[in-house]
Amino acid sequence: MDRERKARKQAEAIIEQKSLEIYLANQELKKLNESLEKRIQKRTKELNIALEAAENSTKSKSLFLSNMSHEIRTPLNGIIGISELMLRETGESHIREMLQTVKYSADNLLGIINDILDFSKIEAGKITIENIEFSVKNLLENLKGVLNPKIQEKKLQLNLVVSDSVPEILIGDRVKLYQILMNLLGNAIKFTDKGFVSIETDFDKTGKNTGNLKVKVSDSGIGIPPDKINSVFDSFTQSNTSITRKFGGTGLGLAITKRLIELQQGSIKVESEENQGTVFEFILPLKITRARPEKSKESSAEVNISVLKGLKVLVAEDNTINQFVVASHLRHWGIVVDIANNGEEAIFLLENKPVDLVLMDLQMPVMGGLEACKLIRSGKTKIKDANIPIIALTADAFEESKNKVLGCGMNDFATKPIVQQELLQKLLKYGTKKNN
Ligand code: ATP
Ligand code: MG
Repeated sequence: MDRERKARKQAEAIIEQKSLEIYLANQELKKLNESLEKRIQKRTKELNIALEAAENSTKSKSLFLSNMSHEIRTPLNGIIGISELMLRETGESHIREMLQTVKYSADNLLGIINDILDFSKIEAGKITIENIEFSVKNLLENLKGVLNPKIQEKKLQLNLVVSDSVPEILIGDRVKLYQILMNLLGNAIKFTDKGFVSIETDFDKTGKNTGNLKVKVSDSGIGIPPDKINSVFDSFTQSNTSITRKFGGTGLGLAITKRLIELQQGSIKVESEENQGTVFEFILPLKITRARPEKSKESSAEVNISVLKGLKVLVAEDNTINQFVVASHLRHWGIVVDIANNGEEAIFLLENKPVDLVLMDLQMPVMGGLEACKLIRSGKTKIKDANIPIIALTADAFEESKNKVLGCGMNDFATKPIVQQELLQKLLKYGTKKNN
């Protein structure tokens, strides 16, 4: 009995001891938990701050790029515009040659700036894919027209094959497809000295309203060495520096092309043999829609310019060189031009003079283009026609500002540096003479 009691007491003591240990361990755990929680809180706070800083830096990076784009394009606009005007004025061949070189170099520089901007936009996740009805045939014919001068200059043969399987009208991002093809064909022509450049398109249906557009761009050019072929899609990579130095470029074209294709859930591959030629093949999933004749308003280049004669256009633009370039183009087409140095002046002129159409710069002192447009559209001014066609002149290639332009009620936008054909087409589309 005594032994039993002793044993129980011993057990109780052990239990007490263990309880104490558990209690202490618990306390320790609690403390640990608290400090852990504190550390997590601190870490979360730090991470949030870092995240915010990263987001801010992305934002300021794209803002910086947007501003840079504006700053670089504005003087380029002057160089390209004035050399075009001078080319129109002079017949002397050696001066024309020099001017052509100026224009060629400026165009090249613009291409590089556009590439860098596009690439950063893609990197910043700023590219959106549009879904618009378009005709592949029209797009290819358009491309052919643009590339023909280079093809003829190099005495190459351009083959264009559109298989019957390709539907008349597809739904997808026409502009990006154009850019992809431009890059691939630009390369094919650049790296081929004799022979051919071909585009073949095919279409595989994958569902009732879906399918894969297959495009093959091939050439009989210098080819890509086997040890370089795996890196052609990397940014700033050129496979043969001695040769590519001769041709110029930054080595961004294919990096952009690949990313644009992948953004649309497509894929691209390349095969090449040195001194034989290169084949790029890409697949883009697209939607099909029932054939309907495409409004071919923008396809024909030989437009009847004479209908613009006497059209009254107001140019709102603060940069005097740009004013001069735009006004010279317009006057060349027989258009009557008025100039405003900012949005406020534009509104004043519109209130007091008959005008058929406005070309409006966006960034101007006193009052910018977006603000001026909002005021005009609001009907709160004395302008007779609050719906007067307004086309933005924008040096800023960011999608964002295009949305802003259309969002504030402008009808359309034309990019700076001015592309004569583009401006002409927009003028023909929106400019109607009023008898005022
Ligand atoms: P950019 O396109 O930026 O003006 P780029 O044409 O040199 O410059 P990419 O289009 O990215 O750059 O092409 C990368 C490299 O791949 C080229 O420099 C060239 O060496 C090689 N390459 C691309 N296409 C062809 C082709 N069709 N034939 C031979 N080499 C090619
Ligand atoms: Mg290229």
